[in-house]
Amino acid sequence: MERTVFFLDQKEMPSRWYNILPDLPEPLPPYISPATGKLATPQELSRIFPMELIKQEMSNEQYIDIPEEIQAIYRTWRPSGLHRAFQLEKALDTPAKIFYKYEGSSPAGSHKGNTAVAQAYYNKKEGIKRIATETGAGQWGSALSYSCAMFGIECKVYMVKVSYNQKPYRRILMETWGAKCVPSPSTDTKAGRDALAKDPLSGGSLGLAISEAVEDAVTHEGTHYSLGSVLNHVILHQTIIGQEAQKQMEMAGYYPDIVIGCVGGGSNFGGIANPFLKDKISGKHKNLRCIAVEPMACPSLTKGLYAFDYGDVAGMAPICKMYTLGHDFMPAPVHAGGLRYHGMSPLVSALYHHKLIEARAVFQIPTFEAGVLFARTEGILPAPESNHAIRVAIDEALTAKKEGKSKIILFNLSGHGHFDLASYDAYHQGKLEDYEYPIEGVKEAQKTLPKVSL
Ligand SMILES: *Cc1c(COP(=O)(O)O)cnc(C)c1O
Repeated sequence: MERTVFFLDQKEMPSRWYNILPDLPEPLPPYISPATGKLATPQELSRIFPMELIKQEMSNEQYIDIPEEIQAIYRTWRPSGLHRAFQLEKALDTPAKIFYKYEGSSPAGSHKGNTAVAQAYYNKKEGIKRIATETGAGQWGSALSYSCAMFGIECKVYMVKVSYNQKPYRRILMETWGAKCVPSPSTDTKAGRDALAKDPLSGGSLGLAISEAVEDAVTHEGTHYSLGSVLNHVILHQTIIGQEAQKQMEMAGYYPDIVIGCVGGGSNFGGIANPFLKDKISGKHKNLRCIAVEPMACPSLTKGLYAFDYGDVAGMAPICKMYTLGHDFMPAPVHAGGLRYHGMSPLVSALYHHKLIEARAVFQIPTFEAGVLFARTEGILPAPESNHAIRVAIDEALTAKKEGKSKIILFNLSGHGHFDLASYDAYHQGKLEDYEYPIEGVKEAQKTLPKVSL
């Protein structure tokens, strides 16, 4: 009898995060302060982040211990299962072996809890009483609301207005965990009021909601800001996924040829890929391929510019070098709300720039086709974001079939889609559209980049 799920004992849960920064071929370009145009100092960053996270952001330690208080909460749902997709393989009639790491078993239903818990912990330790953040479709907001509840911290969430209006269930989840959630643009901040003055009907964007949350943090005593993706410390916290997957793949008796993850800000991809990339960089598994998958409607890696850009609309967040579509990018209304950020993590951007990883952009409708096939074979209903990873896993399995090769494919199933049923409904009714980001948009974006002289 062959096993379909590989579980680790709780005492085998990794007790350290893996930091890829010291293993990069070149140091990451620094963060720039939007206020001074010069290098952002830890002191500046400490107005919005706890010092422990700032240290992690710039750390040159290869491993960082996970405090026991964080491990205790991780153990609520970790180690997560690694599944062999036998049913999917059979449906595809492929010689490839497909594995997936399932991160939907966390309380808020995605990988985001891995960093939310850690961030709430370090803020609590520094005496912070309140955290402000933004959320798109609500996955990050709900993960942070849950984590703040675990540590007794107040949580204020600026939720992109279109999602606030169209997707009430995650807001209700946040409120149930005790958070306060308002639609962005809101009247609670200057950034929000300015946006409303320009366009009273604005549906908002992630970049704008970030501006509101950062402004909230700097204008409220005892308040910090928290970001659910993009930054190095976020990806660091997600590396528990890849480290567990390494042990579980070993239990299964295989090493992956291809590791796949969807990318919004890059954290679940970095989380699963980085521990494996360590083996690629060291030469132990030189031929390993890692593929980051993004929507055609928001193709930062495949069509964006590698340049210094603002992390938000109002230019309050640190400027960093990343693949970007321009900070005032307004995404098409694709259903994978978590993949609509204008930029990409500086770390994942650097991995791509150094050709350590590949990137692929996919249309929305084929991702739902893949997600539905996955649900009908493996049973789990994936988040629309995760469907992007599934699409490419299936495509790679079909390529393996054509070539008659038995490839080992591992992908990250970043979350479940139980709050995204309206999107599945739209797909079933044939109401989804495919959007392709126009290349002219990139030229426009070029004009809005901040001037940085180092
Ligand atoms: C937020 C989210 C993503 C995208 O964010 P990354 O930081 O790129 O991982 C992907 N999948 C799910 C389920 C999400 O909630």
